[in-house]
Amino acid sequence: MFDIVIVGTGISGAILAERFAQDKKVLLIERRQNIGGNCYDEIDGNGILIHKYGPHLFHTDDAEIWQYLSKFTEWQTYQHKVLAMIDGQAVPIPFNFNTLYKVFPKNLAERLEIALLKNFEYGKKIPILELKNSFDADLQFLADFVYEKIFLHYTEKQWNLTPDKIDGAVTARVPVSISRDDRYFSDKFQAVPKRGYTAMIQKIISQKNIKLMLNTDFREIATLRDGKIYLFDSEFNGKIIYTGMLDELFNYKFGALEYRSVDMKFETVDAENFQAAATVNYPNNYEFTRITEFKHIHPAKSARTTILKEYPQNYYIGKNEPYYPIFTDAAKFAHEKYLNELKNFPQIKAVGRLAEYRYFDMDDAVKRALEIYAELKN
Ligand code: UDP
Repeated sequence: MFDIVIVGTGISGAILAERFAQDKKVLLIERRQNIGGNCYDEIDGNGILIHKYGPHLFHTDDAEIWQYLSKFTEWQTYQHKVLAMIDGQAVPIPFNFNTLYKVFPKNLAERLEIALLKNFEYGKKIPILELKNSFDADLQFLADFVYEKIFLHYTEKQWNLTPDKIDGAVTARVPVSISRDDRYFSDKFQAVPKRGYTAMIQKIISQKNIKLMLNTDFREIATLRDGKIYLFDSEFNGKIIYTGMLDELFNYKFGALEYRSVDMKFETVDAENFQAAATVNYPNNYEFTRITEFKHIHPAKSARTTILKEYPQNYYIGKNEPYYPIFTDAAKFAHEKYLNELKNFPQIKAVGRLAEYRYFDMDDAVKRALEIYAELKN
């Protein structure tokens, strides 16, 4: 009946479904009652488009990815800006020369600017852990300040680990910028889908060869046994694209993989605006890491505004949502065991942030899905 089963309707699953549906019958299943995975967004009671699973800002340098998605959505140009509350003041993040002059007195800022320019080319981006290795005393001072005020406590809240205990690539996502560029991303293409991510994904999967089943857990319709897959109780010989968690697929036989979760608390504020930028980070105060005000991302006329406070927490199976794979060596090693187990089921391909246990941005997920399609299509 179906040539291929795809599990999950986030970006990865949706794109693979659309690609395969060009010439194959696709069964697309989704455990939740809505499509979109963690990109899911909806218009809330205040008439504001909110991202249910946290702020999603699309950005890419890859024209092919941009063009591919542009077939399914109109865009609203949007360049993300983030402020961080440092010593009671909202300053631009990533840390750049503008931040430098906001947090230090002028003569000290000038001295630090000179030290930065002596050591790094203008326009470069320096991960904080690299800056911390500087020999120059002024840069040492600056690195310690930025580390302490921006990275240390935020990362402890976000990951329950200090920055040196997680993969350096994580903090390198927000490098110190040798420039006056206040934008969070510097990619060529930056935008949000005009009517939201859910609408875009809806369009991606609206193909005649795709049969969508919501409220359907993979394990309700399929069984894995002795290297074989049974779908609705009959042996299935097609491909399976699986975008969920591998530990769950294999009944946690090697233990549970670690993920970090976030309690997303939305609030209505009885004022037209709440804060000066879409996102304000609170590295050193409160239990939440950041507040996002969605009106900045998706402009809306409303006397009220909706904000989201993110409270990071441990992930508990079945209790909350897995958002971030944890980037310790031990966690990556545990994932490897499941990848090995997957080799017993060559029909199944693990794809996406959860299944591949990777910190994919949305454009990474698109790229990966298109690559996997190219690899599997024949
Ligand atoms: N980070 C930080 N302070 C900040 C912003 C980011 O320490 O003000 C660190 C933190 O470890 C975070 C990582 O950089 O998890 C990546 O930040 P990003 O904003 O990319 O996280 P995401 O939006 O993916 O949650």
